[in-house]
Amino acid sequence: MPMHLTSKLPDVGTTIFTVMSQLAADCDAINLSQGFPSFSPPQELTDRITYHLEHGGNQYAPMPGLPALRKAIAKKTQRLQGRIVDVDSEVTVCTGATEGLFSAIQAIVRPGDEVVVFDPAYDSYEPSVTLAGGITRHVPLSISEDGLDFYINWQQLEAVVTDKTRLIIVNFPHNPTGAILCADDLNSLADIVRGTNAYLLSDEVYEHIIFDGKAHHSLASHDELWRRSFVICSFGKTFHATGWKVGYCLAPTELTAEFRKVHQFTTFAVSTPMQHGIADYLVSNPEFYEALAAFYQQKRDLFCDLLKETRFRFTPSRSTFFQIVDYGDISNELDVSLAKKWTREVGVASIPLSVFCEQPFSGTRLRFCFAKDDATLANAVEKLRRL
Ligand code: PMP
Ligand code: GLN
Repeated sequence: MPMHLTSKLPDVGTTIFTVMSQLAADCDAINLSQGFPSFSPPQELTDRITYHLEHGGNQYAPMPGLPALRKAIAKKTQRLQGRIVDVDSEVTVCTGATEGLFSAIQAIVRPGDEVVVFDPAYDSYEPSVTLAGGITRHVPLSISEDGLDFYINWQQLEAVVTDKTRLIIVNFPHNPTGAILCADDLNSLADIVRGTNAYLLSDEVYEHIIFDGKAHHSLASHDELWRRSFVICSFGKTFHATGWKVGYCLAPTELTAEFRKVHQFTTFAVSTPMQHGIADYLVSNPEFYEALAAFYQQKRDLFCDLLKETRFRFTPSRSTFFQIVDYGDISNELDVSLAKKWTREVGVASIPLSVFCEQPFSGTRLRFCFAKDDATLANAVEKLRRL
């Protein structure tokens, strides 16, 4: 008789990204579901990594990250966010943003603590909170009247923050909706958390992919918010290298100390040649991120131009490499079954939005990833036009 295992995550299945990418592969469909680019990382960067692979950079890195990489990250943070972080005590290199998010949540959340997320919420947050014994409170993002634009309504957050709130997780630029924050939003958040025991976990993996001349407002840039924040970034999106799984956590010294207690037993240290190569590249290309927004804006514009020939309704995304579309004029089928059906029958895979939401979802929305070469986007929309 096999032993009976009582699941710690009884409501969790296989992540939608794995499900949809597998289905796309099985059906030979164009995969605009899971977010990964079809472009290569810069040649100079891969050359530097190869160099370190071949020249002895193959043993454990220091637990918090290679000093050279932490130094380069600190410089970038000062340059972009105006925040001077201590290289030794406020920067930790992580195994992608996923590990950074998980370690921060385990470091902060205790059994019975409440953690606020905004729906649609990236799928790793709630299971990480559950494993820490926390209770997730979902606040829906507000939706504009035409149903196509998403933003935070701070009053709704204020209504759920109590003395039980241990952590508030924010994610701007926002996956999947592309919503962004303005400078005033940071002040509104500061007004709400002032005088509470709530920490902040800010998932900023799309920090460089923001359109139409808008700026990214990091929680690290705000003096009051910074004191209670873990800011999580990733090189995956920035270098077109989601498979490398190298990210980092910025947090004030006391928070970083607790973060590292978890990080050292979750992963211990991150791949050494990757860290050497990225550090070299950041030193020789400190402005590397500057071209990224224009690059993806051109992709967004192309994709949205093509989509005009379909029956989807949409507002061009403000950030990230995702575009939300409303398919209500084509079908009123539930999004999960429709995304699977269209993968099989139309040959284009997407991500249904309801999986990121607590409330049974009445919306008719899908997410497409436009981080693909132009021909792939054109081929995908050619198929979608038939709907
Ligand atoms: N947060 C968000 C919002 C993401 O979209 C992703 C993945 N793209 C991650 C975290 C995880 O990043 P990483 O691959 O660096 O773990
Ligand atoms: N963040 C990526 C997305 O939103 C997927 C990451 C993953 O597959 N875990 O599509």
